[in-house]
Amino acid sequence: MNTEHCDVAIIGGGPAGCSAAIYTARADLKTVVIDKDMHAGALGMAHIIANYPGMGAEMTGMGLLEKMRSHAESFGASFFKEKVNGIDVRHPEKTVYTTSGRMFKAKALILATGSMGKSGDLPGEKELLGAGVSYCATCDAAFYHGKQVAVAGRTREAVEEAMVLARFASRVLFFCPASTFTAPSEDVDRLAELDNVEVFTGRKVKAINGERFVESVRVSGPDEDIAVDGVFLYLTGSAPVLDYTGGQLDVCENGCLLVDERFRSSVEGVFVAGDILCKEVKQVVVVASEGCRAALEVERYLRGRDKPRQDYH
Ligand SMILES: Cc1cc2nc3c(=O)[nH]c(=O)nc-3n(C[C@H](O)[C@H](O)[C@H](O)COP(=O)(O)OP(=O)(O)OC[C@H]3O[C@@H](n4cnc5c(N)ncnc54)[C@H](O)[C@@H]3O)c2cc1C
Repeated sequence: MNTEHCDVAIIGGGPAGCSAAIYTARADLKTVVIDKDMHAGALGMAHIIANYPGMGAEMTGMGLLEKMRSHAESFGASFFKEKVNGIDVRHPEKTVYTTSGRMFKAKALILATGSMGKSGDLPGEKELLGAGVSYCATCDAAFYHGKQVAVAGRTREAVEEAMVLARFASRVLFFCPASTFTAPSEDVDRLAELDNVEVFTGRKVKAINGERFVESVRVSGPDEDIAVDGVFLYLTGSAPVLDYTGGQLDVCENGCLLVDERFRSSVEGVFVAGDILCKEVKQVVVVASEGCRAALEVERYLRGRDKPRQDYH
């Protein structure tokens, strides 16, 4: 059986994993990054990333990911295209199993497999993702300057994201599928008071229409097509990708990993970074910084330092 030995194995090659790899490889730790598919993570799916410092307004998600990966490779990190389907973290040497049968043995692990936006199955949703369908107003609101958009959801996140959109869009139509919100009522009231926002309860977005871009949404109660340039969906939430951990790491009530302020999980030698951590803010710049922090902690752990080593000349 094909087994790779290394100092640190990073599971997930998104921005959190790549950033961690840059730091561990530069610290002269033998680093492998195991990633199932560059298109499978949030950054790989993102159309334009206009807010990553230094990259300008036209950078695509895949373009940024490729740059991050080559940067890590230039310092000696090795990338493997494999799907991880199990880990064994009961011993000082950790083992990572993949669906192809290849195994990795590492002195430390960084888990950076992100979170899965539980995408829904509205007609038109998949086809128009990135062409007017979005799950992130913080990321995409600026593309809707002066335009009419719809928001579907009932959570605090949906309401907060609609407030962000209201700063850009000419009109925000908020469709809450139920008669009540799960968001705090004072937040809903603040949203409804805005001049360019209309809040509808008990109306569901049933379909998204458009040829190449979103043109309208079909809503219920009564059924009608309403013209919009974009639709922001907050109907299904997201969950951390942990299926391969086999319950070996402690999680809290909401199913998120328990991690301390130094990005250490409940098992010694296993560190965690990125959207897998169930945070309120999901942004590339944030997860890149977490990858850095986790990597510096790995170096501290493996080399027995009191403090993390600063990585500068
Ligand atoms: C549509 C969209 C638009 C966005 N726009 C912006 C934006 O404009 N600006 C911004 O800052 N942020 C944006 N974001 C958020 C940003 O992309 C994420 O916060 C960020 O990518 C999270 O990084 P990550 O490394 O934690 O996870 P991800 O980017 O999700 O990477 C996780 C990686 O883990 C791998 N993986 C998962 N499971 C396994 C497994 N079992 N085995 C091996 N590999 C595995 C995946 O292949 C993937 O490459 C957007 C997100 C989406 C979905």
